Amino acid sequence: MKQYGLIGYPLGHSFSGRYFNAKFAAENIDAEYINFEIRNVGEMLGIIRSHPELLGLNVTIPYKEEVIPYMDALSENARRTGAVNVIRIERFRGKTRLTGYNSDLTGFKLSIDSHLDEGHSRALVLGTGGAAKSIFAGLEDLGLIPTYVTRSPASEGMLTYRDLDAGIMETHTVIVNCTPVGMYPEVGYCPDIPYQFLYHRHLLYDLIYNPGETLFLRRGKERGSSIINGLEMLLLQAFETWNILTGSDSAHDSCR
Ligand code: NAP
Repeated sequence: MKQYGLIGYPLGHSFSGRYFNAKFAAENIDAEYINFEIRNVGEMLGIIRSHPELLGLNVTIPYKEEVIPYMDALSENARRTGAVNVIRIERFRGKTRLTGYNSDLTGFKLSIDSHLDEGHSRALVLGTGGAAKSIFAGLEDLGLIPTYVTRSPASEGMLTYRDLDAGIMETHTVIVNCTPVGMYPEVGYCPDIPYQFLYHRHLLYDLIYNPGETLFLRRGKERGSSIINGLEMLLLQAFETWNILTGSDSAHDSCR
């Protein structure tokens, strides 16, 4: 039986495990998906050695950047974002070759593309973590000019939450929350942006999918802005993950 899995810490109830095992059962695919909760990224190599049927891994917090030195090759999107969330494992004559990909970038782009129009040219990316890097690259691919917003004293080209005045909010009509602020169970919190400057031209996108409508999105909706949660991105990155791991031509990310 073929095996696929997820590495991260902590894992809890992962979406990927439920999604892929349901897919395998529904489509009569002779495979299983296993969660590997590891405390150290180096444990990944032992798992790959001791599971000879393992053909691919998803990678989640906190290892999306830490796995990179272990890769034999990186896809174009993994190289650009500096983050890997899919590892394809190839085995020949006792040797393994690990290739790192990024399906978050594709999932995000496909999920936001149809919501964009000519009024959306500049974007604010809230947070500077692994997910934010994929979103930043995705927005650039779609022709927008993204700017990071961080809590730390801003590095060159970044803004802090205090910098967000009426002028910046007026021109940056796409705002993507790439922080965990507002995620279950902390549903009473939202990123510290001046919501009073939002209006109907704004598109607010939250990577969080639990709850389906975060306080960030609710406050945008109250101001007449359009809103999107992270569920579609999650599903689209899972489709892309499967296309990558099965070598399908439908995969968007590639390794040249
Ligand atoms: P992360 O690395 O833990 O954090 C992201 C960034 O958020 C941090 O670098 C930090 O940036 C900012 N941040 C953290 N705590 C904050 C706080 N209390 N207040 C304000 N800013 C804070 O997480 P990640 O892996 O990038 O993921 C971010 C979110 O995206 C999570 O909720 C994750 O579940 C979600 N996600 C969703 C999908 C999907 O498919 N829908 C995919 C990937 C991730 P600064 O220090 O620069 O402020």
